[in-house]
Amino acid sequence: MTIELEALLNLPEIEVTGIELTEQQFVVHCRSRFGEALCPNCLRPTKEVKKYYQRTIRDLPITGRDVYLDLEERQFSCPDCERYFSERFAFVEPNRTTTQRYEVDLCARCEKTAFAQGAVLENLAWPVVQAIYERQAARQVEPGDQVRWLGIDDIALRKGQNS
Ligand SMILES: [Zn+2]
Repeated sequence: MTIELEALLNLPEIEVTGIELTEQQFVVHCRSRFGEALCPNCLRPTKEVKKYYQRTIRDLPITGRDVYLDLEERQFSCPDCERYFSERFAFVEPNRTTTQRYEVDLCARCEKTAFAQGAVLENLAWPVVQAIYERQAARQVEPGDQVRWLGIDDIALRKGQNS
């Protein structure tokens, strides 16, 4: 069951340790499948865990339910550098409460609707939706390509030039 669920989730860095299912929510308890982490300073692997903490991260819905990853994260200590660092995952940025793929999906839907409507549909505060949208828009900006940043204003400007 867990292996099928992990295949469905498609987040190779984590293993599922339990699930909770309610009418509206699907909570996936999970943790890293790796026993060690690389020190960001010296790049040496370490297994020395200083502490564990929980992090709740919104992910893409499954069968109409909101999905939350209840992720057990670790803070490691590097014996060489004598530094502490938190483990990182490719699917979520540090200190974020939404997965990358959730943000990309939300932004795609916001292009067809208003932030406020997206916020209501997703049960999020609209400034949160706006912040996610702006973050993802910034990701799409390539060096020397400032025009895409302008979004709606840019479209209005182009329309103005054409008329
Ligand atoms: Zn180190």
